[in-house]
Amino acid sequence: MQTIEKFDFAGKKAFVRVDFNVPLDENFNISDDNRIRAALPTLKKIIADGGSVIIGSHLGRPKGVTDKFSLNHIVKHVSDLLGVEVQFANDCIGAEAVEKAAALQPGQALLLENLRFYAEEEGKPRGVAEDATDEEKKEAKKQVKESQKTFTKKLAALADCYVNDAFGTAHRAHASTALIAAYFDINNKMFGYLMEKEVKAVEKVMDDIKRPFTAIMGGSKVSSKIEIIENLLGKVDNLIITGGMTFTFTKALGGSIGNSICEDDKIELAKELMATAKEKGVNLVIAVDAKIADKFSNDAETMLCDDDKIPAGWQGLDIGPKTIEIYDEVIKNSKTILWNGPTGVFEFSNFEHGSHAVGDAIVEATKNGAFSLVGGGDSVACVNKFGLASGVSYVSTGGGALLEAIEGKVLPGIEAIRGY
Ligand code: AMP
Repeated sequence: MQTIEKFDFAGKKAFVRVDFNVPLDENFNISDDNRIRAALPTLKKIIADGGSVIIGSHLGRPKGVTDKFSLNHIVKHVSDLLGVEVQFANDCIGAEAVEKAAALQPGQALLLENLRFYAEEEGKPRGVAEDATDEEKKEAKKQVKESQKTFTKKLAALADCYVNDAFGTAHRAHASTALIAAYFDINNKMFGYLMEKEVKAVEKVMDDIKRPFTAIMGGSKVSSKIEIIENLLGKVDNLIITGGMTFTFTKALGGSIGNSICEDDKIELAKELMATAKEKGVNLVIAVDAKIADKFSNDAETMLCDDDKIPAGWQGLDIGPKTIEIYDEVIKNSKTILWNGPTGVFEFSNFEHGSHAVGDAIVEATKNGAFSLVGGGDSVACVNKFGLASGVSYVSTGGGALLEAIEGKVLPGIEAIRGY
């Protein structure tokens, strides 16, 4: 497999798929530019080698061409961060893009307009009437798949080589994230530095496990994490089930959970997962006490209470001190740690304590040599809120992509580069 480090980009034009899907405020100022910064090492390496970059990204979920989602708004900021004046092409495959890409000199950069202005990027038909017949819907799908080939070919024709640095979209088999790779031979396609780091981090928790391996699965719903939990049960030594989803398990065990969040239709599943854990010898760690509230609010009345004895009208919004102590012991003795999902409603300062404590324990374990991966939406927000990001081994930039990788799925964006 080709690598970005080995590849000499001198005189080459590289199509680099990045994830510049950054949040913009009402004046189109970027409110968080981390995603752009994350791609800089890759872009800078290509330029330093004497190559030129053609940058492709999506922004938002446009249903067609709209100024709101134009990447034009970010060109200046990308130029400032890259230290190179970035040109812009108003249409990612049009004549302007072709001319500007062809004229690129070594060290120059071109940003293409939002790839998702074309339905072909995602390969999903647009504008199909809701009352269209199944036949019509099928035909629309067929047509977009056909034109997707032409779209992908045109994108590929802009460059000599392809670099995928967009882990956040690696779970999508889109034109620019996966299909385009077919137009480059194995020596001319590679991961960017960010993508490489993400893939290595996932492999460390999925394949190269130092034991004990502890996964901490939190958040609100079991239903959104079933496949991950099932896959993890075949790999981990300890599985900490925490956050709102705990209560489905506590109820399954016969406990009283008051008004705590619970998925009644997943109680049987919770029982099955507990049985599987037992069968596989996994230490399933479920909270024993909770910080309960009389309403879903930061200024609610609170009490500490055993998890299975929550009074009617009260709900568990965070774990309690006994649980923190148990988690602490397990986490600090671990050598591989995966954290996805908070222990409570960490957005409320009165219910952030458990998530903070878990973050602290992970940092401590990491200092003692554990590999820790934090990823998937809210746990990233947690470590950032508590200023702990630099104390863990890796904070993933991928939400859905990371979760699918942990579920054990092969990601199209990765598969396309590796060529298997
Ligand atoms: P998820 O998107 O499933 O990872 O869930 C994250 C969300 O779960 C966060 O917004 C938390 O506020 C919420 N959450 C965590 N614990 C609880 C709880 N005990 N009750 C209600 N919501 C919770």
